[in-house]
Amino acid sequence: MSFYECLQALPRAQLQMSLYNATAADVESALLGCQGDLSGLLALLSPAAEPYLERMAQQAAGLTRQRFGRNIGMYLPMYVSNLCANECDYCGFSMSNKIKRKVLNHRELEAEMAVIKSQGFDSILIVSGEHETKVGIDYFASMIPDVKRQFSYVAMEVQPLKESEYHDLVELGLDAVMLYQETYNPITYQAHHTRGKKQDFQYRLESPERIARAGVDKIGLGVLLGLDDWRLDALLMGHHLDYLEKQFWRTRYSISLPRLRPCVGGIAPKVELTDRGLVQLICAFRLFNAELEISLSTRESTSLRDNLLGLGITQMSAGSSTQPGGYVSPDTELDQFEISDDRSAEEVANVMKFRGFVPVWKDWERGWRPTLSD
Ligand code: SF4
Repeated sequence: MSFYECLQALPRAQLQMSLYNATAADVESALLGCQGDLSGLLALLSPAAEPYLERMAQQAAGLTRQRFGRNIGMYLPMYVSNLCANECDYCGFSMSNKIKRKVLNHRELEAEMAVIKSQGFDSILIVSGEHETKVGIDYFASMIPDVKRQFSYVAMEVQPLKESEYHDLVELGLDAVMLYQETYNPITYQAHHTRGKKQDFQYRLESPERIARAGVDKIGLGVLLGLDDWRLDALLMGHHLDYLEKQFWRTRYSISLPRLRPCVGGIAPKVELTDRGLVQLICAFRLFNAELEISLSTRESTSLRDNLLGLGITQMSAGSSTQPGGYVSPDTELDQFEISDDRSAEEVANVMKFRGFVPVWKDWERGWRPTLSD
């Protein structure tokens, strides 16, 4: 059974009602231990957990320290194209937006990578808009070997691909794929994705299964917080994570919790998630899953990012640009969304060290990959 079928079978309205009817006793019971327990996750995401935020934060910090020490993985997104054949009403790259479009050529890629390398990064996230004819599998297959020569960990955040295509990219050096569902509510999903292949909710939802079958080391899940009820979307992402971990136990998982940010032609959040709400989310996921990597981007403010260190976050970007070619020549007309924390990577790393954390530029390098016959 695919996760799409599982999601269809879930009693959505009932889960939402349970979220809003959870009691202090449910939260206290979850705080006694809820690793892998979806009803515990539900309680910790509920409004009833809000008065327990301090206790959740202490426990989440303890678990994070136990599993990850004081290490924070550093990565940088490298936007290779802002061409997109989709219309998503929250994104500056939407096809109808009249912005300058650009796809990096080989020479421009090399120049971007040189600047990123010079900042100390060894882990990179390749990002593009979704345009499969001009920036499709051939483009990715031609660039990944070059990227892999320079960076020991290569992740990508692009359109969903076929299983065989993911497999080919793994052979060329791809380590991780971030693919965010945006929302687990199919009706809200249709309302925000009005043109292009991204309209296919089921194909996107089943992508992590294809990615895992292709042997990718790590898969990143995410919802765009602000499109729908964030508590329910987060809970359903927890169900998705639980499903994947049970089906594909060799794969590592991460989540990202981006809040809707202003962009060219973009919409305002329908449901505001406060800073306290974001802290609750991070802590709830850590208490639910001690192994999970949780990443935080420069969408969030400087002070919030600094204060979230140690609570559950294990990966951070810093000094990011959200435009193709933006590290060599910044041009705000090409931005996907506005960045909130615009400090350099060095400044962010210095703050981490000052607070007793260790910025990790190189995590690990794959020397051996298990095959299905192992
Ligand atoms: S969110 Fe992705 S698919 Fe949608 S317009 Fe932006 S880049 Fe394109």
